[in-house]
Amino acid sequence: MKVGILAYQGGVDEHRYMVVEACKELSISCEVVNVVEKHSASNIDALIIPGGESTTILKLMKRFGVDEVIRKSIENGLPVMGTCAGAILLAKRVKDLKTGRVLQGTLETLDMLVIRNFYGRQRESFEIDLDIQVLGEKPFRGIFIRSPAIVEVGQGVEVMARYGESYVLVRQGKVFASTFHPELSGDTRLHKYFIEFVKR
Ligand code: GLN
Repeated sequence: MKVGILAYQGGVDEHRYMVVEACKELSISCEVVNVVEKHSASNIDALIIPGGESTTILKLMKRFGVDEVIRKSIENGLPVMGTCAGAILLAKRVKDLKTGRVLQGTLETLDMLVIRNFYGRQRESFEIDLDIQVLGEKPFRGIFIRSPAIVEVGQGVEVMARYGESYVLVRQGKVFASTFHPELSGDTRLHKYFIEFVKR
């Protein structure tokens, strides 16, 4: 299996490490490639869009023309996991909490409204235990860093975990989005779940 990681900025190496570990634990042979230019965005079996700064990643995706390639691949069934800024980039509707500004030109694939920087300054980062039923009984440590919140989802969207009033892990078809950072948790369960989902 060939897993691409969008590699302009953010938690690229951390995701790579987790994919490699997850594949080892699952005894699946995996190749992980950095997606930067158009050619590296095609011929992959799955894509991970890491956290970082969504506006910066969006700008670079457009500069390299990679947004169009990814958008088409998703339409054609490419499985994707976006974490934090990656979730923002997958959302159909994005607003910034402070400025109210709308972020336009995202990949617009997941039917949800995401509010950037939802937890504000004092709580830019925090950790909590999440209940993610598909991963079993043991709680999953959710690490939130200047995270967005998913505040509305469309009908076809499955909510896999929530925190307070908002959603923190969702799936629509083959597209997953988390507002937390599973790549920093030291827990490979979500990456394993995704890899197994891709393999199916
Ligand atoms: N606040 C960032 C953004 O809006 C996301 C933070 C992150 O990915 N850790 O893009």
